[in-house]
Amino acid sequence: MSSAMRFTGRHVLVTGAGSGIGAAIAAAFATNGAHVSLCGRDACKLLHVAETCTGKTAVIDGLDVTDPASIEAGLARARTLLGRIEILVNNAGAAPSGPFAKITLADWNATLAVNLTGVFLMTQAVLPDIRAAKPGRVISIASTAGLTGYPYVAAYVAAKHGVIGLTRTLALELAHTNVTVNAVCPGYTDTPLVDRAIEIIVAKTGRAVGEARAALAKANPQGRLVTPAEVAQTVLWLADPASSAITGQAIVVAGGEVMAG
Ligand code: NAD
Repeated sequence: MSSAMRFTGRHVLVTGAGSGIGAAIAAAFATNGAHVSLCGRDACKLLHVAETCTGKTAVIDGLDVTDPASIEAGLARARTLLGRIEILVNNAGAAPSGPFAKITLADWNATLAVNLTGVFLMTQAVLPDIRAAKPGRVISIASTAGLTGYPYVAAYVAAKHGVIGLTRTLALELAHTNVTVNAVCPGYTDTPLVDRAIEIIVAKTGRAVGEARAALAKANPQGRLVTPAEVAQTVLWLADPASSAITGQAIVVAGGEVMAG
């Protein structure tokens, strides 16, 4: 097998695959021969991503990671179309911002639901498949916000820290099995999520879009935003059968940004 096709025929399921990092992960696995279930809420966005993928894909629309019934229905469709799931990529997420004092309980619950409870629900639902795979992989897209604090995103930071905790614990529980469990922690990455953050900075501060973008890029010692493809390559590296000794890790993809603590 050529190294360029190292995932030939393996079933990879990606949540939030309709845009940004999830779309890049799906495309990278497909290029490497995987069969990819593109999961998300919006069929149009998923179909558009499917068109950019070279390999075999299944569009699993209507899958909201906060809703156990839609997860069950979506996984049943994915298994029927592409077989047992071998690699799970928990990518769906959202990063609403605002000062801590103004976060409502509803905002708090919604942010934890998509970023943390969604990872719990998806991982628990897919784990029987993953346990039977050789090797099985659970990879969650956390964030540098899972390892250090940032102002004005308290719920998001709390949720992403939770994803790292879940990852470390599940990795230990499964250390004697065929499954590794890891998190990838991107810094600011050039996706619609960051575009929305820039819009908010512009609205609140009156700065120009370019200036707001440059301010986010400055957090990265390389002076730029990370690309979705760079995050995707890190996911493929963790998913590779040769990476079996790496488990319970939070891999930072942030151009050298140093994490506190
Ligand atoms: P994005 O907004 O393009 O992608 C997020 C995707 O998740 C979207 O397609 C969205 O529809 C989907 N999603 C949101 N809620 C969902 C739900 N309840 N059920 C199913 N799907 C849902 O942004 P992105 O930057 O590509 O984000 C992908 C992941 O990367 C997220 O977990 C995010 O927290 C993480 N991340 C992003 C950055 C960044 O700077 N862009 C940095 C670190 C981590």
